[in-house]
Amino acid sequence: MAPLFVATLLAATLGGQVIETVDPDTRLRAGPGEEYDRVCVLPAGVPLWATDKQDQWYHVALGATLDAWVYQGTVRATGLTTRPANARLTDVTAGPTASGTRVAFTLTRPVPFRILPQLYPPALIVDLFDSASGTYWVRQKAQDRVCRGLALWMESSGWVRGRIDLAMPAIVGYMASYANGKTLALDIRRGFDAPGLSGKTICLDPGHGGRDRGAAGPNGLQEKAVNLAIAVKAAELLRAAGARVVLTRSTDTQVGPPGCKESEELEARVQVAIKANADLFVSIHNNHAGGGADSSVAGTEAYWWAPFCQPLAKALLGGVSAALGLSARHIACRPFHVLRSTDCPRALVECGYLSNPAEAEYMSRPEFAERAAEGVVAGMRRYIDWAAGVGPPP
Ligand SMILES: [Zn+2]
Repeated sequence: MAPLFVATLLAATLGGQVIETVDPDTRLRAGPGEEYDRVCVLPAGVPLWATDKQDQWYHVALGATLDAWVYQGTVRATGLTTRPANARLTDVTAGPTASGTRVAFTLTRPVPFRILPQLYPPALIVDLFDSASGTYWVRQKAQDRVCRGLALWMESSGWVRGRIDLAMPAIVGYMASYANGKTLALDIRRGFDAPGLSGKTICLDPGHGGRDRGAAGPNGLQEKAVNLAIAVKAAELLRAAGARVVLTRSTDTQVGPPGCKESEELEARVQVAIKANADLFVSIHNNHAGGGADSSVAGTEAYWWAPFCQPLAKALLGGVSAALGLSARHIACRPFHVLRSTDCPRALVECGYLSNPAEAEYMSRPEFAERAAEGVVAGMRRYIDWAAGVGPPP
């Protein structure tokens, strides 16, 4: 007998229970704590089978072969103690929308799911847990220009996996949600119709602002002011190239409502891009070597979170470090709040280090913002050209 099956059986004897997500952003994690990575992020209203509990974390089974943990404050107990039967997948349809394609998975009830983007070649893997294949149709409407192929299979007991191969050079965004309670709708953004910046909607996010000054240099220079100067200059350059630009802030202010929590402030910045239906989101920052503050640390860094955003981070790292003449340190995966949404490619660039006296001095000169802005725009152009299928990979 498989060890996990034995564990599930044991837990059932000890008393498993059905819990349901209540937080619209419920994170299932690989272990019982915030320090563990996300297995998937679920909306409210999804039932989960909890086999046991450790401190404030429920241990949940996903199908028969995977498990995860969820914080008690994001779910509610339903009082049910029998594991619900697997949902049946009865229909899969792909059809065009205004901004791309919607792939709709019709289920007999909502189930935990995850979307895994694959970069080369571009594809989206869709995992439906606590599910079994019914006698389903896979229909692809003739006008659909986004999906190249759509295949489904049983990965293991209680786990249906789908693979959507995309008819474009790169993934440029997707969002999953439950429409009418039990149809999982995956909205996939259509790729860029043309290379270049013209006609694109770009969201620029100058980091910090208002009460939050960000990092500060030994010369007293504040990060929020440097970030804003770069973003304002980049907006000018982008508009001159024919792009539509949306700034999360254009003055020294916060973006969220007065007195809001930090997470609400950051979510307000995420929403600016979503409301504008932006093609690209770039957050502009400058760095500080934390703690012991090693003042020799220097150079440009860029960050991504959703795996399909790596090429954008790489393009920004190259563009900004070259324009400023600074060393390109690294790109890295970080769960920064402004990067978590998968609506469009999102990246964060740390142009230089305020804790480095030479770089802080450079930042105090007007040419720093001009060059950094040129670098941001060059990085975006390079990314878009590649994602449109005409340029080399960043
Ligand atoms: Zn910052």
